[in-house]
Amino acid sequence: MPSHPDLPAHLLGTLIIGSRIVGVDRGDLAENRGPVGPAAWPVAVASPEHALRALDAAAAAQPAWARAPLAERAAVVRGYRAFLAAEAEALARLIVLETGKTITDARAEVAVAGAVVDELLACAPAAVEAHEDGDRSARITTLRAPVGPALLITPWNFPLAMASRKVVSALLAGCAFVLKPSERTPLTAMSLVEGLLTAGLPEGVGSVVPSHRSAEILAALTGDPRLRKISFTGSTAVGRKVLAASTTHFPRVGLELGGNAPAVICPSADLEEAVRTIWQAKIFNNGQACTSPNRVLVPESAAAGVYELFRAAAEATTVTDPWEESARLGPVIGRESADRLRRLAEGPHGGAVVTGGVAPGTPGAAVAATVVLGPDPAAGVCAEELFGPVLPVVPYPGDDLGAALELANATEYGLASYVFGDAAETGLLAAGLDAGMVAVNRGGVSHPKAAFGGVKHSGYGRENGVEGLREFLDTRTVLRPVP
Ligand code: NAD
Repeated sequence: MPSHPDLPAHLLGTLIIGSRIVGVDRGDLAENRGPVGPAAWPVAVASPEHALRALDAAAAAQPAWARAPLAERAAVVRGYRAFLAAEAEALARLIVLETGKTITDARAEVAVAGAVVDELLACAPAAVEAHEDGDRSARITTLRAPVGPALLITPWNFPLAMASRKVVSALLAGCAFVLKPSERTPLTAMSLVEGLLTAGLPEGVGSVVPSHRSAEILAALTGDPRLRKISFTGSTAVGRKVLAASTTHFPRVGLELGGNAPAVICPSADLEEAVRTIWQAKIFNNGQACTSPNRVLVPESAAAGVYELFRAAAEATTVTDPWEESARLGPVIGRESADRLRRLAEGPHGGAVVTGGVAPGTPGAAVAATVVLGPDPAAGVCAEELFGPVLPVVPYPGDDLGAALELANATEYGLASYVFGDAAETGLLAAGLDAGMVAVNRGGVSHPKAAFGGVKHSGYGRENGVEGLREFLDTRTVLRPVP
């Protein structure tokens, strides 16, 4: 048995089905190896049968959970919020073990999960409230009813925050859930739902079925008419499969998919400040965020100066052991991802490549922080979602914001975007960017009070706050004669 102090030993080889922790047969065990540690540990691999048992439990628990007063559902979520606060450090350490992100980024993730839960709790009364309206021909009551049992599919890059937001949204809206986390991060998901069990989650309401048999599980659950909702966060390629599978029984589908965020530096921008902010956003989470700046667009006349600033930023950045308190950039999730990033950085793309350092003895798949200066905007390094610490910097011709906008929007994605400059220039760009979220003179688009989601191939549906909760609520209208 593994002895790593940061592993929740009692959860190894288990699933949660219908709010109960259950062991699995030997045949349903696999070995997980953290991306940065020598340790390996046994994890349960849910089968489609496990997933259907979880849906049975959710369907059985759904009516009572939907009928429970909001205050009762919120009490469970508040208990979970207290668990997040009490176990913050243990959760952060488990996240490092499963993802290889730096301990600082892992702590930030736990804090974000807490802030998002706080905001969902604050918004829940408004989201579920009935609304009266009408005219001389009819009295109209608009009701918000829980959609029903929900399948929540989450990625590995924010294994706590993504799953926490979905689970809490489902619960506050009155939906029982089956959580299918990434097979890379099953223990973070199990810990999250164990926190809910401790907080009094009723029997049947919540299940976790980690598995790399995702396609089979998706087929089994979407083949069952009792599944009424799928909330998916992950790659566009898998999102397309999820949507296709949903056409048998039409559960509501929300898709948070990939991104290729442009960061546009306007002629009026404070160049040093813009580069510093973009660089910090880039190396956050080891570059593995759907909202990471993926391409920087700079005015042609300022390109030489901006190149020097990015060159200096890359050269001053070192990949280190993510457990070090001072670590700001750690290795990426695995060798395959590292090879892909190096290939894209190498080109051919016509740009100059500048890299930072890798500290001796760094564990895992280390990719040095890399800037690619002046590549062809059509090259793979600009066109693909990078998901790692590689950043192309592309000049736009004639310092023309129209040309910048055209380049920024020349992607199938439309999730995050960033603009830097004065109010007039950033306002013009913010209005024209084809993206779900625009950050102006700041390095983050994510905020618990701001709706989170994309357009085009970045998906649809929104998370956070009232809009996020309504994704788990059907609108039902009742019309009556006017008395
Ligand atoms: P992924 O698409 O490989 O996996 C996401 C989830 O889908 C995992 O739970 C995985 O097990 C599951 N899955 C895989 N194949 C499946 C199938 N055939 N049927 C059903 N489920 C399946 O993504 P990932 O590598 O875990 O995460 C990285 C991707 O997620 C990036 O593209 C990133 O941009 C995206 N992402 C998007 C957001 C957002 O909010 N828009 C947030 C984080 C990550």
